[in-house]
Amino acid sequence: MAPLLRSCSGLVIRCFKHVEAFADWLTGAAGPVFVFLCWSLIGLGGFVFFDVVVRDLTFLSILLLSPILLLVPLNLYLQYYLVTSIPSGFPAPRPSGPTKAESRWLVPNPKSLWAPERWGFYRSNAGGWPLTGHNGGVASEPRRRVRRCRKCDGPKPERTHHCSVCKRCVLLMDHHCPWINGCVGLHNQRHFILFMAWLSISCWVVCVLGYAKFWESFAYLAAWPAWTPKIGFTLLYVLSIAIGIAVPVLMAWHLHMVSHGETSIESHDNAYLEGKARAEGLVGVVWCRRNDPGTRRALESRANGVGIVQIYLNPYDLGRRRNLELFFNIGPTGYRWTTLLLPLVVQPYTNGWSFPRRSLPTPTPSSPSDLHLHAPELAAGLSSGQGPAENGMAVAEGKYVMGDGDGDLTDDEEGGGGWMDGPELGSHH
Ligand SMILES: [Zn+2]
Ligand SMILES: [Zn+2]
Repeated sequence: MAPLLRSCSGLVIRCFKHVEAFADWLTGAAGPVFVFLCWSLIGLGGFVFFDVVVRDLTFLSILLLSPILLLVPLNLYLQYYLVTSIPSGFPAPRPSGPTKAESRWLVPNPKSLWAPERWGFYRSNAGGWPLTGHNGGVASEPRRRVRRCRKCDGPKPERTHHCSVCKRCVLLMDHHCPWINGCVGLHNQRHFILFMAWLSISCWVVCVLGYAKFWESFAYLAAWPAWTPKIGFTLLYVLSIAIGIAVPVLMAWHLHMVSHGETSIESHDNAYLEGKARAEGLVGVVWCRRNDPGTRRALESRANGVGIVQIYLNPYDLGRRRNLELFFNIGPTGYRWTTLLLPLVVQPYTNGWSFPRRSLPTPTPSSPSDLHLHAPELAAGLSSGQGPAENGMAVAEGKYVMGDGDGDLTDDEEGGGGWMDGPELGSHH
């Protein structure tokens, strides 16, 4: 009976693999259709808005509203152009070398029309986190061991994931998005979120400024000088309400993850690892995935008198404000916040091979001596060179590291859930 069951389950798994591969193929094939649809929608929407609403505004209103009437379409169209044309960033060039389009975007050219420098925006502290090693070059820290991707056999730095639709590894991969026909990752996630923001603003502008026109569009006999038929504007208005509610929700969710130093994938994986940490059921389990003083204090007070504290920690969570500053590359080590108002190609704060980590809570005299760290992808261990060879991780100095499978994580080679002992924690940052 058992061999029969085994072969049956094998068949089912193979079937699922085929279905999965087909879904990936379909997502890839549908991509251009989605992009065409999006261009049509925002293109037509803009035309109808100017045709119906702006046509009816007085000269003074147009003058007063000109910042909105100029900035909103400029950012809406150009941010969408940027998010669809900038490759998300890859750890290795294709075997035949990076394509022209890829290298053009990955190497910052201060003379380019998209460069902030061209318009008088400069990084306030260029000596901050390094912005080096483009072209999928070598890691900025040569001693850092890098995993190897099982699927494309290329290097797979931390936070990189393999996209089965794009069929390659993507730096700081967030998700594959059919609406942009590509992955949202290191180089285009900023444009992705800014596009969502400007799309939301566009919808609200239509809703507010077009309110009177919306009711007029129902009046059968009302004069209607626009080229667009009344029903066309009614449709645009209703669509603007729907998108103006849905997209901000999506954007808020993405900003929430960004502000906690997580990508969509990491958010899923961290939630899984957190559950695992709880399920291990050590005494005094305290969860500290998020980096905020309140959680830290609760952790320390509960640790008092308890033998062991298990911390589940997201090492990339540098605090809400800093996470957002680094993501948009603004603030003390980046550009001015006004760069958010223009469709500029602001380079990411990192080359995607290494990321700054939060300082780890050091055991205070009152807290227990055996403090454990439970971090994704054996975070500290991978970079320190003294990580324990756990979870089947074959550790070899200066070589790629292969993780063992953990089926519930996004990538089966992630090898999450490493353990490190407390006393060594202070040395990593
Ligand atoms: Zn890969
Ligand atoms: Zn992809």
